[in-house]
Amino acid sequence: MLVLSGGWVSGTMLSPRFHPGRVWVMPREGAAMRDSGRETVRVFPGLGGLRVVRLKEGETVEQALQEFRLQPEVAWAEPDYQVTAAAVLPNDPYFQNGTQWALNNYGQNSGLPDADLDAPEAWAVRHTASNVVVAIVDSGVRTTHEDLAANLWRNPEDGTPGFNALTNQHDPEDDNGHGTHLAGIIGAVGDNNRGIAGVAWRVQLMACKFLNAAGNGYHSDAVACIEFARAHGAHILNLSWGGSEFSAAVSNALWAARADGLLVVAAAGNNGANVDQFPFYPACLAMDHIVAVGASTRTDERWSQSSYGAARVALFAPGAEIYSTTQSGDNAYQSRNGTSMATAFVAGALALLRQAAPAAPAPVLRDRLLGAVDVKPAFDGKCVSGGRLNLRKMLDWPALAMNWSNQTAQVRLTGVPTHGYVITASTNLQTWTSLQTNTAGPGGDWWFTDPASATLPRRFYRAHPGP
Ligand code: CA
Ligand code: CA
Repeated sequence: MLVLSGGWVSGTMLSPRFHPGRVWVMPREGAAMRDSGRETVRVFPGLGGLRVVRLKEGETVEQALQEFRLQPEVAWAEPDYQVTAAAVLPNDPYFQNGTQWALNNYGQNSGLPDADLDAPEAWAVRHTASNVVVAIVDSGVRTTHEDLAANLWRNPEDGTPGFNALTNQHDPEDDNGHGTHLAGIIGAVGDNNRGIAGVAWRVQLMACKFLNAAGNGYHSDAVACIEFARAHGAHILNLSWGGSEFSAAVSNALWAARADGLLVVAAAGNNGANVDQFPFYPACLAMDHIVAVGASTRTDERWSQSSYGAARVALFAPGAEIYSTTQSGDNAYQSRNGTSMATAFVAGALALLRQAAPAAPAPVLRDRLLGAVDVKPAFDGKCVSGGRLNLRKMLDWPALAMNWSNQTAQVRLTGVPTHGYVITASTNLQTWTSLQTNTAGPGGDWWFTDPASATLPRRFYRAHPGP
């Protein structure tokens, strides 16, 4: 019997933990509990006399449970499981005060609750991408910024954080602010009590400068940056720029990047245009490792100036009123709008995914990204996926194991405690039917018994994150 866990990214394996010194005991209705020689530390009269019992000296939880389960006056007994927080809330002040609505939107500042990445839930699965190098091909990065310095890539040759195509030196300082803003969205240091939290709390940000102080640059300098990034081990290119002119040179450079396994995330453009009709490059280059991103708002609408395209834009991501780092000081932050910002959210998300699945080819990661969006009416017909980035659904892939008992399939799902999952089944590995939606218990487990398995032909099971 083949069991599929549903893709390249294996789920988090959480072994259930419980208190070593006490157990739950539920008396049978109307039965009087005998004195077992153990101290009752808590009783819940409103729950049928359910109680917490302290174990004897030297006794294990297993021994105590075995004894209680044999007593006729005991309905059931179980371990006192430890609960792991299913959401991780970093201490960065602009996350804590709700300014970073894109990561966690609870309706603050007239936002729509849950028009967000579900970042706290995703971070319960993974928040670091320490092995992943994201090249920000842009205006450079303020390398001394308090919330970025620790996450900069370092060139093993000379310790510098990137490349400047305008000087041909390794001095990619930002004199515009655009690149520094992207850097913070992707990977500002998370949970460091300063500024903001990046999508990835730890990641390697490679600063590649080709845009000047006014935010303009030439294809030749962009290609020099892309080639530097490719030669120095970048995994993801963030391209938050573009134009209406197709360039064979840029196309060739990105094709070469594809051969080296790089993912490319590119902005759909801020012209409010249908890029299926009026292409914007490099976002609209038709390659399976390029992800074109449109911008959404805190109410899950398309940002009014965001371009779109049912065929050419892959998905939407937050790109309006986005607060992040800027270049004017080491503790400077500002708000910006644009598909540039949306692109950076996706680049950060892909960094976390790539950390989880380092061997997965770029198109597979792209498929996972697009399969995990929150589908919303505003994006229907406006992009390939019809939805907005959801980080939690992308990362939270559960593991499955199974065994047979009395001709019945028992499937054990292991995910994150209290997160929702869906178990599906198929007889041909092509058509999948939803069997049940449920939430994992306090140990991260969900045992699912498929009663139909006793009578139906044997089938395959897999699971994915719930809505
Ligand atoms: Ca949410
Ligand atoms: Ca921070």
